[in-house]
Amino acid sequence: AKREGRNRVAVFEPRLREVQLARIGIRDALVEAIASGQLELHYQPQVCARSGQLQGAEALLRWTHPTLGSVPPSTFIPIAEEGSLIIDLGRWVIGEACRQIADWNRLGFGHLRVAVNLSMRQTRDEALPAFIDEVLKATGVPAHCVELEVTESVLMEDTDLAVSQLARLRARGLKLAIDDFGTGYSSMAYLGRLPIDKLKIDMAFVQAVPGEGEAIATAILAMARAFGLSVVAEGVETAAQRDFFREARCEQLQGYFIGRAVPAATFASEWLQYPAG
Ligand code: C2E
Ligand code: CA
Ligand code: CA
Ligand code: CA
Repeated sequence: AKREGRNRVAVFEPRLREVQLARIGIRDALVEAIASGQLELHYQPQVCARSGQLQGAEALLRWTHPTLGSVPPSTFIPIAEEGSLIIDLGRWVIGEACRQIADWNRLGFGHLRVAVNLSMRQTRDEALPAFIDEVLKATGVPAHCVELEVTESVLMEDTDLAVSQLARLRARGLKLAIDDFGTGYSSMAYLGRLPIDKLKIDMAFVQAVPGEGEAIATAILAMARAFGLSVVAEGVETAAQRDFFREARCEQLQGYFIGRAVPAATFASEWLQYPAG
C-alpha cells in the first residue's frame, strides 16, 4: 500500500497549476485526516549504545489516506508547513505522543521518553509552551518524558526567537535535541549558546561509516562532550556502524539495525516489558 501511495503522489505532473491544485488537494485532505483519525504515530526505538537497552522512542507521523494510501511525511509536512495547518498537525502529534506515554505508564511499563519533531513554524509559535503545559497537565506526563527535536536550519533562521522559545520550553523540564546535526552551519559559539541537551548526528554521516563519516562523527562527539551534550547516532543500519558508535562512546543509537518505526501496539510488544514480579 505504501509503494502505491507513493506512486500516486508522485504522478502529479510538474506543471505549476496542477502542482498547486495537488497541493491544495493534499492540504484539504490533511485537514480531513486530522479530524477523522487517518493519522497515526509510529515509534522508533532509541537504545543505549553501550548496553543496547531501550531508552526512548522517536514518534514519527504516518498518514493513511482512504484512497491515496500511505502518504509519506516528506510529502505532506512541507505542504502543511506552508500554512498554519502545521500548527494543528504539530499539536495533534504532541497530544497523541503524551496520551501514548500516559497509556504505557498506566499499563505498567513506566514512563517512556518520547521524542517529537517540531517544525519551523511550530518552534516559533508563541502559544506552544502554554499548549504543552495543558497537554502535560491533562495527561499527567512528566515534562522530562517529552523531548523536542528541532533541526539546525530552524534555529538558524531567527536565532534569537528560536533560542528564547527553546529556553521557555526547557525551563519546563522538556528535553531538547538538535536533529540532523552537521548538515547546517552552526558555529561553535552558537552551539554553546543553545539551550539544548542532545545532538542527533545526521544519517548521512552515520551511513558513511566505515569511511569518511568517521572523522565527522568523531569531531561531533568531541564537540558535544565539550559542551556537555549527549549524542544520538541516527540511521544506524549495520553492525559495523553500531560498533563504531559504541566504541566512540556515542550515548544512543537509532536506526533500522536497531528497529524500525512501528505502531504503538507493536512497539509495546517488541520493546516494552512489564516490571518483574
Ligand atoms: P527525521 O526527523 O530525520 O526522522 C528520521 C527519518 O529517517 C524517519 O523517516 C525514519 O523512519 C527514517 N529512518 C530511521 N532509521 C533509519 C535508517 O536506519 N535508515 C534510513 N534510511 N532511514 C531511517 P520518516 O518517518 O519518513 O520521516 C521523515 C521526516 O519527516 C522526518 O525526518 C521529519 O523531518 C519529518 N516528520 C516525521 N514525523 C513528523 C512530525 O510528527 N512532525 C514534523 N514536523 N515532522 C515530522
Ligand atoms: Ca527527527
Ligand atoms: Ca533526523
Ligand atoms: Ca520509519
